[in-house]
Amino acid sequence: MSLSADYAFTQGSLQDYADCARRFELRYIKRLRYPAPEVKQALEFERRMRQGNRFHKLVQQHVNGTPADLLGRSLDDDPDLARWWDNYLNGDLDSLPAQRHAEITLQAPLGGQRLVAKYDLLALEPGGAAVIVDWKTGERVPARQALQWRLQTVVYRYVLAQAGAHLYRGPIPPERIRMDYVYVAQGTQRHSFEYSAAQLAADEARLLEMIQAIGAAAAFPLTEELRRCKFCMYRAFCDRGEAGDLRDFEFDEEVEGDEAIDLDFDQIAEIEF
Ligand code: SF4
Repeated sequence: MSLSADYAFTQGSLQDYADCARRFELRYIKRLRYPAPEVKQALEFERRMRQGNRFHKLVQQHVNGTPADLLGRSLDDDPDLARWWDNYLNGDLDSLPAQRHAEITLQAPLGGQRLVAKYDLLALEPGGAAVIVDWKTGERVPARQALQWRLQTVVYRYVLAQAGAHLYRGPIPPERIRMDYVYVAQGTQRHSFEYSAAQLAADEARLLEMIQAIGAAAAFPLTEELRRCKFCMYRAFCDRGEAGDLRDFEFDEEVEGDEAIDLDFDQIAEIEF
């Protein structure tokens, strides 16, 4: 398969490829939107997705200066959201560097392609810490090792190191970068992942290998791990059985959108290729 030079990889598309090459092909190459529900409880699933979106909009508004008490007044209709909001506010936000950027998108070149990351929050102190914060509204916190290996952790730190200099007033040393996940349904704890030059080199090699493999792929086989099909919208298309149960779903906002399709490139902070 040949990729156009302006094709943009995201953590979501790369994670799809890592999980199932066929899913990558259907979603990002054939651009199919097959309407199989991702879980059995489709209406509840949609409600949870709306809740997650609403939470992220609140955070964005708060980071951009709207007072917390004003935003909190609108949450009486949703006890879950109100609890997440409390946990967000009690999550020691003051300890984060003061220069804040909510919902910002950066891109970096890699292997002749573009690698794009859209951040919930970048909190920076030029010359000091560069913290990526990602809020999750899912009930289940993945194992630490799984979070560390996840392509979101890999892509977000790498893209910030390569493309964040204009925000940091100079190149960001990898050792200054940290990524925090906060599962607000589970409290205020941050799950933090530091970075280093050695990790950056290892991540770059992993990402490059994936991008080259996709570019050279002659076929996109179905995953042999059937558990991955339970929550995949292409299940019926692949004849891979019924939807999984919402209670088993690892809920986060990564399934919200098809990032490669929905990205607004006008919003991306450009860097020179
Ligand atoms: S249903 Fe299974 S095999 Fe088909 S695209 Fe989804 S994960 Fe891959």
